[in-house]
Amino acid sequence: MWDSLVRATALDNTIRVSAVVTTKLTNEARLRHNTFPVATAALGRTMNAALLLTWGLKEKDETITIRIIGDGPLGGIIVDANTEGEVRGYVQNPQVDLPLSEKGKLDVGAAVGKGTVYVTKDIGLKEPYTGSIPLVSGEIGEDIAAYLAQSEQIPSLVSLGVLVNPDFTVAASGGIIIQALPNTPEEVLVKIEENAARILPVSTLIKEGNKPKDLIKLYLEGIDVEYLEEKPVRFQCRCSLERVKSALVSLGQKELEDMIKKDGKAEVVCHFCNEAYFLNKAELKELLK
Ligand SMILES: [Zn+2]
Repeated sequence: MWDSLVRATALDNTIRVSAVVTTKLTNEARLRHNTFPVATAALGRTMNAALLLTWGLKEKDETITIRIIGDGPLGGIIVDANTEGEVRGYVQNPQVDLPLSEKGKLDVGAAVGKGTVYVTKDIGLKEPYTGSIPLVSGEIGEDIAAYLAQSEQIPSLVSLGVLVNPDFTVAASGGIIIQALPNTPEEVLVKIEENAARILPVSTLIKEGNKPKDLIKLYLEGIDVEYLEEKPVRFQCRCSLERVKSALVSLGQKELEDMIKKDGKAEVVCHFCNEAYFLNKAELKELLK
């Protein structure tokens, strides 16, 4: 079964919804970064949000970047996603271990702490647009909902969830965002809220085998839904040896000469995917040209 994203609308576009299941790719992120459960949950929820927020993008190279910068032990969480269903991300301190919250859940809010969420939309203009708001709870779903309500003036229901097994593998990951445009009839909003209150948490639903379409059906039960697209999503970084080389070149001649003299080699690790790139002396000298 593939990780996938589904988009749909209802009631002549007054409701738009996207849902995603990312159990596999969240587990891949965990393996790449060796994250402990609370970091896995924080990173997974943020990756879910970024994928869901690619809704407004059109072209291939347009991206959504979410940065959650809190004062908790996790440090920052940085994630980006594009219209191809590719997402990547990392947390500054992946091996954070915290006691469970009072409700017996992974305490993402405590791991993130107080701070700011930044959402950057890069649609290929000179200046990407960045909006930000103070974190509401650090639980990420609430923070994204508050961001959408404030910066985009669209009331949104956001539910993001990650379940981690005792052996640290990912049991379920995914989420849903439902946006209601201003002319949505009141009784429809009430219906959606009733549905949301009645059903199980999104991570439990995914663990039970529900796919993105099933999530949409459950949340929008009793409402006619028009499905727009379904596509696979995956953890995919855009780093490459070529990019590493041009980054080294941009350090300047002096820096490169120092590197050759001092170390005789270079090791560059990509933050986003933890891939390591090695260049030997001959390769570094080649860059000098
Ligand atoms: Zn990378």
